[in-house]
Amino acid sequence: MKKNVRKIIQVAKPYIDSGDIKTVSDVLKSGLLSLGPKYSEFEKLVTHYAKVKYAVAVSSGTAGLHLAVKALGLGLGDEVITSPFSFIASSNCLLYENVKPVFVDIEEDTFNIDPHKIESAITKRTKAILVVHIFGQTADMNPIMAVARKYNLAIIEDACESLGAKYRGKWAGSFGDVGVYAFYPNKQMTTGEGGMLVTKSKRIYQLCNSLRNQGRSENREWLNHVRLGYNYRMDEMSAALGTTQLKKLDWMIREKRKIAEYYDMKLRSISNIITPKIGIGRTHSWFVYVIRILNRNRNQIINKLSKMGIQTKPYIPTIHLQPFMKKMYGFKKNDFPIAEKISSQTLALPFYIGLNKAEITYICDKIKPLIS
Ligand SMILES: *Cc1c(COP(=O)(O)O)cnc(C)c1O
Repeated sequence: MKKNVRKIIQVAKPYIDSGDIKTVSDVLKSGLLSLGPKYSEFEKLVTHYAKVKYAVAVSSGTAGLHLAVKALGLGLGDEVITSPFSFIASSNCLLYENVKPVFVDIEEDTFNIDPHKIESAITKRTKAILVVHIFGQTADMNPIMAVARKYNLAIIEDACESLGAKYRGKWAGSFGDVGVYAFYPNKQMTTGEGGMLVTKSKRIYQLCNSLRNQGRSENREWLNHVRLGYNYRMDEMSAALGTTQLKKLDWMIREKRKIAEYYDMKLRSISNIITPKIGIGRTHSWFVYVIRILNRNRNQIINKLSKMGIQTKPYIPTIHLQPFMKKMYGFKKNDFPIAEKISSQTLALPFYIGLNKAEITYICDKIKPLIS
């Protein structure tokens, strides 16, 4: 029987080179697989890269966000303002601590929280703004920081999709009280699973250091637990991979930018497609390449492309319309109309280092007749 062996073009894949493989295998050979030298080496590299004072390596971006919420002392009765157009983890971290997410609609161009809609969502219970930098581009931080100062609100930055992005010359993750990066295999750089919390506060740094390590005391007495903690540690293989990945992060972002520019050139002139827009004062670190499809059924297009061997994803469903969120808080359709409209139109195209011009051309040639 003949099998169809046509290649499938994936939507994402990590870039791993021989240096990455060597550093991980060196850790394996050393026998020191956790709490060795690599996680602090990786932390130091991240502080240098993102120009932040302290970094705490953790087991995932979600774990980092959870610790951020804990470290700010948020809990039952508190509200935090955030974006409904994000990956579920940016709100789940609030629910873990019984904090209520209060959503604010997004900017149509950048898909980030609309700073001008924040103030009217503030109540007596509002304690913080959890800013998500979506798809590799920061939110409009100046007006957000201004409203936070005016109402004395803390800022958590979910920079899990935006390591390496800048806003007016400053790195994503370095604005707020706490920032969090993530290193899942589809992100700008990977450690397998992994995340990094960054902060300028020594108190938050020390607290998160303890919380990720079973609540142990700062002096690391092994069986002295001074608070309720977690095992959110990053293992040494992951941290080692982080060190070599971070060293080539700028190069990887440049490679992704070239792919984005090639897509832009091919798709820009097609009616019913809107290519990614970059806000004033911002640089894009290209987590995903997401276009908007107008006047066509986006999900049908996904299915048709899939039959042609092209994997694409509906990026990203809104958080407030997830079944458990609707049940818990009574959210309904049309609560955040811009986020919902964008969410119904957006399509993530195959986007990874190694995707070549012939493949991009093939993808665009297949998309075009489905849309125009
Ligand atoms: C990936 C991601 C996270 C969580 O990262 P994990 O490492 O998968 O836990 C959080 N927020 C956003 C916006 C993300 O894209």
